[in-house]
Parts: sequence; C-alpha cells; structure tokens
Amino acid sequence: MMAKPAPTRPRTRPAPAPRVGFVSLGCPKALVDSEQILTRLSAEGYTIAPSYGGADLVVVNTCGFIDAAVDESLSAIGEALAENGKVIVTGCLGAKDGGAFIRAAHPKVLAVTGPHAASEVMAAVHEHLPKLHDPFVDLLPPSIGKIGVKLTPKHYAYLKISEGCNHRCTFCIIPSLRGDLVSRPIGEVMVEAENLLKAGVRELLVVSQDTSAYGVDVRYRTGFWRGRPLKTRMTELATALAALAVEYGAWVRLHYVYPYPHVDDSIALMAAEGDAGLLPYLDVPFQHASPRILKLMKRPANVENNLKRIRAWRAACPQLTIRSTFIVGFPGETDAEFEALLEFLSEAQLDRVGCFAYSPVDGATANALPDPVPDALREERRARFMATQEAISAHRLKRRVGSTLTVLVDTHEGARALARSAADAPEIDGNVAIDNGAELPIGEFARVRITGASAHDLSGLPV
Ligand code: SF4
Repeated sequence: MMAKPAPTRPRTRPAPAPRVGFVSLGCPKALVDSEQILTRLSAEGYTIAPSYGGADLVVVNTCGFIDAAVDESLSAIGEALAENGKVIVTGCLGAKDGGAFIRAAHPKVLAVTGPHAASEVMAAVHEHLPKLHDPFVDLLPPSIGKIGVKLTPKHYAYLKISEGCNHRCTFCIIPSLRGDLVSRPIGEVMVEAENLLKAGVRELLVVSQDTSAYGVDVRYRTGFWRGRPLKTRMTELATALAALAVEYGAWVRLHYVYPYPHVDDSIALMAAEGDAGLLPYLDVPFQHASPRILKLMKRPANVENNLKRIRAWRAACPQLTIRSTFIVGFPGETDAEFEALLEFLSEAQLDRVGCFAYSPVDGATANALPDPVPDALREERRARFMATQEAISAHRLKRRVGSTLTVLVDTHEGARALARSAADAPEIDGNVAIDNGAELPIGEFARVRITGASAHDLSGLPV
C-alpha cells in the first residue's frame, strides 16, 4: 500500500514590506538621529524607498539652525507632501514652538516631533503605516547587525556622545530646540565605538554640541567599560577611544571642543599618538576674538587669551591641526573689532576656518542687540575674512609639500584617489588628491608623498 502524501500547506505570497522614504537634513548630530530611526525602521521590517513616489510614507528630519536651513527644511516637507502626501516631520525645526511652527506652514503633516526622538517617530510611523506582524522581521536583520544603519561611507562614522547644550549663546537656538546637555553613558559610547570599529570603520568622528562638557550633567559619573571603571569625562573618553582605535588601527577625531583647561590633557595624548589613535586635530569654534563681542555672544570658555592657549597647544603638539568657525558682522561689531579679528587670524595661523556672516535666526536673543551691522557690510567683512584666511591656509599647506603623509582613501575619481590626511575632516576640510591612485582601496589607509598644494587641498603620489 502506498503511503498517502503528507498534506502541504497552501503557499501564500508574503505581504510586501511597507516602504518609508527618508530625507535627512542638517548637521552630523542630526545625521546620527537619522541613522537611529533608519536602524529601527529596518529592524522592524520596513524598507527604505529611494523616491517619494515609491514610498508609502515619508519621514523628513529637519534642521532649524539658520534661516537658510529653515527654508530648506520647509521646502523639503512641501515637496514630500506634494509628491507623496503622507509626511512625518522630526528634528530641530520640529521642536520650534512645540511643533506649531511646522503645522502652521504645513498643516497636512501627519505628525511632528523634535530632535533625538526615534521612539516618537516610530510611534507615528506605526500609527500611519503599520509594520508587518512577522516574528522574523521583528528581529534585527543580520545586515543591520550591531552598528545599525549608517548614512556615512563604510569607513568613517559619527559617534554622538551627548545631546543638547547647557550654554546659551545669544546667536543660537539649539538649546531651545535640543534641550540641556544629556551625556550618553560612557560604557554605551565605548560599546558603540567598538562595534563600529569591528564593522570596518577606520575613523570615528566624535560629535556633540560641546564635547568638552561631556559628563558635566551627570557630575562625571563613573561608568564601566570592559569591566573597568571609567569616568564620564572628555579626557577619560578621549584616552579610552584612543587606546581602542590603536587596537583596531583606526583614527579618532574630536569635534566641537571648547578651550577649557582640561583640553590640554587631550593635546598631550595627541602628541603621543602615532599613525593610529587620537588625531592631532582640534575643532574649536572660537567665533570671534574680541572679548566684548564674545561677551555679547555669551560664549563658553571665553578666555581673554586664546592666542596664548593656541601657542601652548602647538608647542606641546607641533603637528596639531586647528579648525575653527567664526561669525562676522555680529550686532554691534565695530570696524576696530573686525580689524582686531583679522589680526587674531594672522597671529593664530589656524589651519582650517569657516566663516559666517551673522544672520538673525528667528528666536535668537542676539536679534534684540543694538547696532545691527548692515547686510552689505557683513558680506564685505566675510569676504575680507575669507581672503585673509585663504592666504594663511595656502601658506600652511605649502609647508607640507615634500612630506610623506598617511591618508584614508575616500573615493576614486578617474585615475586619481581622493583621500584625507589627519588634518582633514570629511565634508568640511580639504582633500589629498593622489595621482595614479586608482589601485588604492577605498576605506583603507595609504602613504602619500605630497607634491603640490593649493589654498585648501594637497596632491601627491602613492609611496
Ligand atoms: S555652545 Fe552655544 S552655539 Fe553651541 S550649541 Fe550651545 S548654545 Fe549653541
């Protein structure tokens, strides 16, 4: 007798995964928020749609830092509404007036949240585009792994160590959008750093609103890393990250460091490192050189003698690259104060500099200050400032010609590779263009002999 075949279950086609479109605007801190939301979306089985039309719903992560960013965010929301119709807004601009600002401009958005609000965004997504109830997609897919979705290339990653800011600079509305400082537990930061390095990241970029203030809010609480106590403080974090980076043959770069005295400890560490570890690179937003303007700006660590400090840092670590940003045309800035700023620039010989002409941001207390500088004069000062800095930058880069540098290869461009040295942060600084570099693997380190320099970039040949 023949055995009866076992009954087979009717095959059903799996339901298509819900698709979310994602627009990410703003600074590296906002990018990290986007990565966290995308990670959770992917972990729950949503797919990320490459176009508005192919999406069931769109999330727009906004920026509200300056008026141009506000305009860009509002028009991105408008475009997503026109092309798709179902839009959830998150990010800094979402926090403005508790969401009322966005709702007034775009009443049809489905939900509005502030920055660093992955859980609220996910709740809104669940409400308007329910996830698939499948026990398998509720698990983190292997492709997401421990590091989550990254929006940067595979070989570098932003490591956000805190959220918000305790300062109240008069030109800035970030504290009203992102709240006071909340430091992430140091053990959690270190675990994330190690997961990123294990996944092949070669450069960690430490970001926050004020890296020097890390741990102030938790009174430098002691956390744990690899079973050992570790204080939640910038010096300890930089030291631990440097050791970890050496272990993995990677770089660590510090951004948004204010010149508090304890920064000197990190400079000593930078001086001691070789080709891996804590890079001799400091991103210090000085913003101005006039003590009176700095006071009007209510800048943190407003020391009278930043020049003395810069000289001491360079004496301790001659290979140090200093990047900074400045604002010219701040309300009340006199001709003499602007000239003093140019003098500071000539004396300080900073390596990398960004400059903004002051622009009144809606909600900033500096708007109420007397004696606004006329638009044309602000622009003229910005142009003079940048011309002064360009000559300094060209002079400093020229000194590198003839030297051999370690670089991290970012991409290929025809027969050339584009890379960055320790002196170049991604997106904001220059490049090292390597002729005959097409064979150099992307995301790996290379040695380059520098043969040419322009105002912002270097060029060279593989060694
Ligand atoms: S330090 Fe000043 S400029 Fe920076 S986020 Fe805080 S308030 Fe804004």
